[in-house]
Amino acid sequence: MTNNLAYAKQLDATYEIPSMRDEFCVTEGRIYFDGNSLGLMSKRAEQTLLDLKDSWQNYGIDGWTQGENAWYFLAEKIGAQMTEIVGAKKEELIVTGSTTVNLHQLVATFYKPEGKRTKILADALNFPSDIYALKAQLALKGYDETHLVQVSSKDGQTLDENDIIAAMTEDIALIVLPGVLYRSGQILDMARLTKAAHERGIVIGFDLCHSVGSVPHALREWGVDFAFWCTYKHLNGGPGSSGALFVHEKHFGMKPGLAGWFGSDKEKQFTMSHTFEPAFEAGAFQIGTPNVFSMAPLLGALELFNQMGIEKVRQRSLALSDYMLQCVEEMLDGYGFTICNPMDHQRRGGHIYLEHEDAARICKALKERHVIPDFRAPKGVRLAAVAMYNTFEEVYQCFAILREIMETKAYEKFSNEREIVA
Ligand SMILES: *Cc1c(COP(=O)(O)O)cnc(C)c1O
Repeated sequence: MTNNLAYAKQLDATYEIPSMRDEFCVTEGRIYFDGNSLGLMSKRAEQTLLDLKDSWQNYGIDGWTQGENAWYFLAEKIGAQMTEIVGAKKEELIVTGSTTVNLHQLVATFYKPEGKRTKILADALNFPSDIYALKAQLALKGYDETHLVQVSSKDGQTLDENDIIAAMTEDIALIVLPGVLYRSGQILDMARLTKAAHERGIVIGFDLCHSVGSVPHALREWGVDFAFWCTYKHLNGGPGSSGALFVHEKHFGMKPGLAGWFGSDKEKQFTMSHTFEPAFEAGAFQIGTPNVFSMAPLLGALELFNQMGIEKVRQRSLALSDYMLQCVEEMLDGYGFTICNPMDHQRRGGHIYLEHEDAARICKALKERHVIPDFRAPKGVRLAAVAMYNTFEEVYQCFAILREIMETKAYEKFSNEREIVA
């Protein structure tokens, strides 16, 4: 029997990789399963944010070069904290901008339509912001939306790599795909797709927003041309924390599409010349002054992350989500939920995804009972059991509460519409 409290507590006591829950600021009585949208604050992230506040107070302008975390080198320093997480050399990483801004930068750099190769290949399930950015980049080059090819999904939830590869035709100049799909949580085979793209002479990049910090990557080994991601989801950097990007070493020396002085070779930046001399590393793709306070919590958050290590994070995450799926099957049978995430470990990211006709109001009823899910219109419920701070007991409690909501139809008192942020 898996669906009882004693069993869940026993898992917490005996599972080989313990959580680091004590390091986080968890609210007692609240079950937080939304770490795939906004990770929780850790005590160390809070501390490094305060440390940087102090450096402003203490050093003024000299904070750029003085103190333990001199601001001038902070983007590189935090980039170096991500080498294990994404499988890259430190020079290939930089913390900067935001997901969407970094996508604009990378497409402005890597999209070079020429002859017959003028189109961009993406997918029909990606996050809207990525698609808006790709269409805008096409428009800047004088192309209309027919130049964006979006691979469709057969089941509405997942993508088939064979379909994607079949769409890598001679007219494609650039490919941009997610690492993990934001709804179904499907992991795309980034190694295979990269190999197929390169065999056809196409440049390929990945949006890692939902895969970074939940599944391991080997970007450098796979030969991925570029990647970009946010740091406020599984990496727990806080609301609006700076994004990050990866550019493979083979592209060092490429001219950034969107140039700015913080992309300069650091030794030369302050010579104030009107001739831009970009850094010979991923730092070249920075634009303006870094958002120091939006990077500060990452120092602590990533330290914690590296302490557990991405392989253990992944193993514990899978154990928690396996337990979630078991609970769905055993405790919610007959209540109208459909599991829409892949079941196979190779194909499943860090969250599970259920659909239900009353999803919006079921989520409201959960929130009323201090369980925090993530609603995705029109009928999706995402639940992320985060390796570092969630427990097996919380998983059991969540489904016991959900079963009670379904049994008593407690959701019926709410309207089945989404809230402004959902
Ligand atoms: C979260 C997310 C974004 C958000 O972009 P921001 O620029 O950070 O607001 C973009 N794309 C994907 C796939 C995401 O999951």
